[in-house]
Amino acid sequence: MNWFESRVQLTPKEIAIIDSETKESWTYEELHERVIKVASIFYTKGVRKGDRVAILAPNHISYFDFFFASMKIGAIFVPLNWRLAKAELYYCLNDCDPQLIGVNRKFKPNLDGVETNATYIAIDTNNYIDELYDQKASFDESLHEEDPLAMIYTGGTTGRPKGVVLSHKSILWNAFNTIVSWGLNKEDTTLTCLPMFHTGGLNVLSLPLLLIGGKVVLTAEFDANSVVADLLEYKCTIVLFVPTMYHMLIGTEAFKTATFPDMNVFVSGGAPCPYKVYEAFSKKGIAFKEGYGLTEAGPNNFYIDPNETMHRLGSVGKPMLFNDIKIMIGEGAIAPVDEVGELYVRGNHAFLYYWNRPEETNATLVDGWVRTGDLARQDADGYVYIVGRKKDMIITGGENVYPLEIEHWLEAHPAIDEAAVIGLPDEKWGEAVAAFVVTKMVLTAEELEDYCKQQLTRYKVPKRFFFVSELPKTAVGKVDKNTLKARYSNTDS
Ligand code: ATP
Repeated sequence: MNWFESRVQLTPKEIAIIDSETKESWTYEELHERVIKVASIFYTKGVRKGDRVAILAPNHISYFDFFFASMKIGAIFVPLNWRLAKAELYYCLNDCDPQLIGVNRKFKPNLDGVETNATYIAIDTNNYIDELYDQKASFDESLHEEDPLAMIYTGGTTGRPKGVVLSHKSILWNAFNTIVSWGLNKEDTTLTCLPMFHTGGLNVLSLPLLLIGGKVVLTAEFDANSVVADLLEYKCTIVLFVPTMYHMLIGTEAFKTATFPDMNVFVSGGAPCPYKVYEAFSKKGIAFKEGYGLTEAGPNNFYIDPNETMHRLGSVGKPMLFNDIKIMIGEGAIAPVDEVGELYVRGNHAFLYYWNRPEETNATLVDGWVRTGDLARQDADGYVYIVGRKKDMIITGGENVYPLEIEHWLEAHPAIDEAAVIGLPDEKWGEAVAAFVVTKMVLTAEELEDYCKQQLTRYKVPKRFFFVSELPKTAVGKVDKNTLKARYSNTDS
C-alpha cells in the first residue's frame, strides 16, 4: 500500500480536492476511485513501470489522477509546461519520450505537428475517465522507494529546462518535511493557483496537504482581482504565490480591505520577494514568510513558523529538520558567519538525476549534496539569506556585486514598480552594472543615479540605466535575465 492509499483509509470521507471553477469536490475515497480507474486506463494503454506519462493541462483534478495512478503502477509522471513556446515544448517531449499524454483541449493546438510515439487521451472535463475506463487492471506493484515517480522540468531560467527526476522517497520526504517544519495539519486548506506543471504548484503544498489529510482547492489561473474572494470563500489557511503574483495582489482594492481571518501564513517563493510585499502584509498584521526552494531539492528547504513574529526581512528562515545545509566558498571551505558562498543542501528530499543529462547530474549532485547554484549567507542566529544566483553575480572592476541588493534598493524607490540588475560587457570594468526599471512616475536617470549613490557603495551604483515598459519573464514569472543580457549586450543606454 502506498502513502496515498493509507491516507484514504484514514480519512475516506474528508474532502481532498475542490475545483473552484465547477465547484465540484472529491473526497479522499472518491479521488482514490478515480486513481484506480486511471491506473487501469494507463495499464490498458500499455504503460508499464518506468514509462513516462505526460500531462498538458491547466490546473485540474487530472493532475492528481495522473500523479497517483503513476505512483500506483510505477510510471513517471511528467507535467508539461503549457506556457512554453512550441519549440521548447517539442524539446521537452522529445526529451522525455512519453508513452501516453493527457491533453486538455485548450492546449491541443500546442501539439499540432508534433511527432511522438505516445498515445493521446483527452482530459477536457472532470468526467473524462468515464469515456475511457473499461475494467480494473491487475497491476505489477513491485516498487522501490528509490524508483522514479515524477519528472518535473525546471523553470529554464538559466538555460534549457532540465528534467528533474524525483523518486517516491524524495517526494514523500518533501511532504514529511513540510508537514513537520511548517506545522501543517488536516484542518489546513490551500488554494493552488501556481501552475501544477511546476514544482511550486505540485510539491510545495498540494502533495504535503494530501499526505496529512488537508484540502486542496484548484484554480486554473491566477487572477489578482478574484483570488481574495477565493481565499475567503474556501477559508484557506496557507498559500504559496510567487513574488510576481504578490506584486499584483497587493495593488488590488480587494486586498486593501481584506482581513483574511482564516489564513495562518502567506508564503512567497520561487524568486526574491520585493520588500514592499513584506511591508504590505506587515501593515495589515498578517503573517508573511519567504520560502526558498528548487525543483532538485524538495522544493521546500526552510522552516516556516507562522507564529514567529520576528521573521527577518529578506531571510528564508532556518533550515528545515531533516535538511542539512552548508554554504561553501569555492569547493573546499565553509563560509564563516555572514559571508556569502554557494548554498548546498542534503536530505532525503533530493532528486535522483537529470533525465538524459549525466554530466549536469554529476556537476549538481556532489557526494550526496545538491549544489543549488545560488549564493547565500547565514547569520549568527542561523537565518539564511539568499543573495542571488551564482550565474547572475556581477564582477565589475574586480569587485563582486550581487544584483539582488541593488534591486531591493531600486524597488524601494517610490517611482519604481519593478527592477532588474545585470552585468553588461564593458571594456573598462569587465562588466558594468546595468539597471532596468519599470517606472510608475516620471523619473530621470540622473535622479536615479543620485538616489543609488545615497544607498550604495560606489562600485555597486549602476553605470547604465534602462527605462523599460516591462521586464521579460520566464514561463513561471521569473525575470528572464538571459534575454535582457542578449538584448542589451551591444546597446548604449
Ligand atoms: P533553471 O534551473 O532551468 O534555470 P529555475 O532555477 O527557475 O530554472 P526552479 O527549480 O523553478 O528552476 O527554481 C529554483 C530557483 O529559484 C532557485 O535555485 C533560486 O535561484 C530561485 N529561488 C527560489 N526561491 C527563492 C527565494 N526565496 N529567493 C531568491 N531566489 C529564489
